[in-house]
Amino acid sequence: LKRLAVLTSGGDAPGMNAAIRAVARTALARGVEVYGVSKGYSGLVNGDWQCMDRTSVANILQTGGTILKTDRSDAFRDPQVRADTAERLRAAGIEALVVIGGDGSLTGAHRLEEETGFPVIGLPGTIDNDIFGTEDTIGFDTAVNTALESIDKLRDTATSHERVFVVEVMGRSSGFIATSVGIAGGAENIIMPGHPIDFQLICERLNDSLRRRKFSSLIVIAEGEDPQLTSQLTHDLGVAGYPARACILGHVQRGGSPTGHDRVLASYLGSVAVDYLLAGTSNVMVGVRKAEVVTVPLQDIVSNKKVVPDELIDLAQILAT
Ligand code: ATP
Repeated sequence: LKRLAVLTSGGDAPGMNAAIRAVARTALARGVEVYGVSKGYSGLVNGDWQCMDRTSVANILQTGGTILKTDRSDAFRDPQVRADTAERLRAAGIEALVVIGGDGSLTGAHRLEEETGFPVIGLPGTIDNDIFGTEDTIGFDTAVNTALESIDKLRDTATSHERVFVVEVMGRSSGFIATSVGIAGGAENIIMPGHPIDFQLICERLNDSLRRRKFSSLIVIAEGEDPQLTSQLTHDLGVAGYPARACILGHVQRGGSPTGHDRVLASYLGSVAVDYLLAGTSNVMVGVRKAEVVTVPLQDIVSNKKVVPDELIDLAQILAT
């Protein structure tokens, strides 16, 4: 392997820069040239890449976002475009690709290798932690901590004003951020995507709290598929006589300086990915299970869905009551 390319794709996640840096520095240390692709698959299909050296990745370890920029590309969903892209990469002397992104990006990576034989390796880069086969993803820890900072602040206001706050966190349809934030922030209720809201149970819990002279409450709600859910629940609580306010944390959860945990994770996975490519392993994602680095076939990621473990949901419920 003489030359590889690296890109970030899908939603940005804190720690992507640490991963880019690890890929670039490990490759250079092993005598492999590195090309950074701009704007994910959009840049890839257009041949928008540049040679990187050690200083291209200097002073980025601690920064959020991605220096390579990211994008969502409809063009790359077309098999013919993927075939042309592989040709373009080969013509440029690029022999392998590292894709840092979420499950959609890894699905695209899988299709590229399956259809064209072009070697690709994936890194799990998403705040959602919703990628099958890995217990952790680059950016998840930072997003949870960012959400917690806000939750702790909302708790102050909820207590002072004796109010209920309905706090919506990101995490798409998976609910990993909601579970972690709910447990770590002491939420009185956690509403998971795909689980119907038990409004009566929420009211019962609020009444229990009131009987214990606890006049404030935090309800963490996962963003899920229905954008109206948070405002609807807040409205219904008001009608039922509980003074509630909604707070949608939104995109602040995607940015910011990565935590130490995410920096180490990204550095480790980025470096290992290069060594796997050098050893001839591709069409896999490098992830973590039981504190060990593992490879997960990209096919498994495409055909399986990761769900929040029942034990974690049970724990959240026990601690909330
Ligand atoms: P996140 O969900 O964390 O934002 P993601 O990687 O899942 O990240 P997506 O928007 O699902 O984000 O996918 C990113 C890009 O990957 C898409 O814009 C598209 O270019 C490519 N991609 C996604 N799914 C496919 C697919 N089935 N076939 C080919 N390419 C795909």
